[in-house]
Amino acid sequence: MKDKQEFAEQRLTPSLDEYDVAILGGGIAGLTLALQLKKARAATRILVVEKQEHPVAEAAHKVGESTVEIAAHYLRDVLGLGEHLQTQQLPKYGLRMFFSTEDNQDITRRVELGHAVLPPRRVATYQLDRGRLENMLGSELPGQGITFLDGCKVQQITLQPQDDFHHLHIYHARSDREVQARWVVDASGRSTLLQRQLGLAKKVDHNANAVWFRVGHAIDVNEWSTDAEWRGRIREGRRALSTNHLMGPGYWVWLIPLASGSTSIGIVTDASMHNFDEMNRFERALAWLHEHEPQCAAEVEKHQEKIQDFRVMKDYSYSCEQVFSDERWCLTGEAGVSLDPLYSPGGDLIAIANGLVCDLIVHALDGENIEERAAIHNQLFLLFTNSWRSTYEGQYPILGNAQIMIAKVIWDTAVYWAIPGLLYFHDTFRRAVDSPEILMNLLRFSILSEHVQGFLRDWLAVAPLGATDTFIRYYDFDFMSRLQIGMTANLAGADLDAQLVENVHFLERLAGQLVSTVIDIFSQAPASPTIQSLVQRWQDDPFLQELIRVYQLEEQERPINSGWITMGGQKRERQEVAR
Ligand SMILES: Cc1cc2nc3c(=O)[nH]c(=O)nc-3n(C[C@H](O)[C@H](O)[C@H](O)COP(=O)(O)OP(=O)(O)OC[C@H]3O[C@@H](n4cnc5c(N)ncnc54)[C@H](O)[C@@H]3O)c2cc1C
Repeated sequence: MKDKQEFAEQRLTPSLDEYDVAILGGGIAGLTLALQLKKARAATRILVVEKQEHPVAEAAHKVGESTVEIAAHYLRDVLGLGEHLQTQQLPKYGLRMFFSTEDNQDITRRVELGHAVLPPRRVATYQLDRGRLENMLGSELPGQGITFLDGCKVQQITLQPQDDFHHLHIYHARSDREVQARWVVDASGRSTLLQRQLGLAKKVDHNANAVWFRVGHAIDVNEWSTDAEWRGRIREGRRALSTNHLMGPGYWVWLIPLASGSTSIGIVTDASMHNFDEMNRFERALAWLHEHEPQCAAEVEKHQEKIQDFRVMKDYSYSCEQVFSDERWCLTGEAGVSLDPLYSPGGDLIAIANGLVCDLIVHALDGENIEERAAIHNQLFLLFTNSWRSTYEGQYPILGNAQIMIAKVIWDTAVYWAIPGLLYFHDTFRRAVDSPEILMNLLRFSILSEHVQGFLRDWLAVAPLGATDTFIRYYDFDFMSRLQIGMTANLAGADLDAQLVENVHFLERLAGQLVSTVIDIFSQAPASPTIQSLVQRWQDDPFLQELIRVYQLEEQERPINSGWITMGGQKRERQEVAR
């Protein structure tokens, strides 16, 4: 690392700019953080440095196009970008999945999970053209009094926690700059500038790959069949506006419509189940689609002359040892942690991290000692993301089994609305620092979550395959509507605490129902020794037994529809067991 003297000699311009906060990287995380900070503390002098020149390309810019409720709430309500979202982006019609059936030649035969009616407006979500969003944000900053240097690359970061300012060297083709800033926030995405410099990278056990491309044409899954009954399943809204996932063992393929008229298509695979070399060029990806998703391949081929880009990303998931420090640095977005795109949580992590970063910096700039706050925010964020990762880690084999995957999606979505959704919509993350109860409940829930994910893996090992011709809607289950709209309940103080406790308790009942129902299914069928010993193991597991007890206690008085576990069937329906 060069010292200050060398730095000074290298400078091409004599300017030494001074800021309260320098944000390294002007992607979605950096740009939104700048706006949020300015809203929270108008006097803050903020610099955002972005390598790429603006305006960036629309459509073929970045991935991260589908939002879920937390990210949508962040952009629309916390940052006030509602008008842009409504007029320049597309409304999203929820997550929709089509599970593999035989040769996947006929979409109407595939088990479908999705909405038949529009979700309530208060919890609207969006499909984002990332280029369009980042261009808007970049042009918004100067008007807010934020310095935005596009086409400039952060080349050197000298952290000086013992001094008042950290030091940055910024490269630009015409003139370099020296900058000093009290706080440095790394939002450089996969460049992970500070993570690498500080040796904070943390490998995870989830190894999955992705390839994607944009087609300059609308692709609508609803057009893949003229079957009137199948089309008529959708009572409101358009399938095309969903984030459509084509699911198979160890893989999913996304189709996301973009406001600029293009369609984003991606293939995501478990590294141990699909060979990355068979999809890492466009022609190979197309051949792979022909083999696994022939209807999609045919559509892509129809518009092949309109392919706008082709990108690959190997082993995209990683974690980090530390993301926030009282030594006046933070990491946000993919500069810190990358989970898995199956449920589109990337924007959520940005919303949550930016809120915590903002809270930390505002308190510090206002003169408060933030040592404890930084430690708790850091612990909370890492606890959360690590627990969230168990949703994906080791779970890709389940993607090929419609019944278990539907149970998993309903469970994962219920969890998302009941815990992080409730907390985020009520602006509770940054207040966890003052509430040991919140931390306790999160811990309790994260243990529950790991057990349920393990149970789903066990179930897969002995479950039958081959379901067809079923449509499951999220709102078939009244608890789903309740938890989703519950995020917007606007509760305060003790009411909110009570709701969190109630939600964790409800999830315990739901988990108990899952275990009890699956045990029942297997107990009624002629079982192989493998199944018998697995069921015995479940029955001997004290944690699972306690969940069953909690579930049974209230089942008479407050029954829960078990169709989420049995693909809509009755609880005690006899099912064929294959192995
Ligand atoms: C396959 C895949 C699919 C995904 N799909 C979704 C999805 O549907 N929904 C969702 O919410 N999330 C999704 N994600 C996650 C999403 O892509 C990320 O959360 C998001 O893009 C991260 O934004 P960011 O601002 O942290 O990083 P970026 O958007 O990558 O921004 C970082 C910026 O830093 C700049 N930069 C880098 N180095 C320097 C430097 N030295 N100096 C100056 N600038 C620099 C870059 O030019 C870039 O603009 C997906 C991820 C993957 C891998």
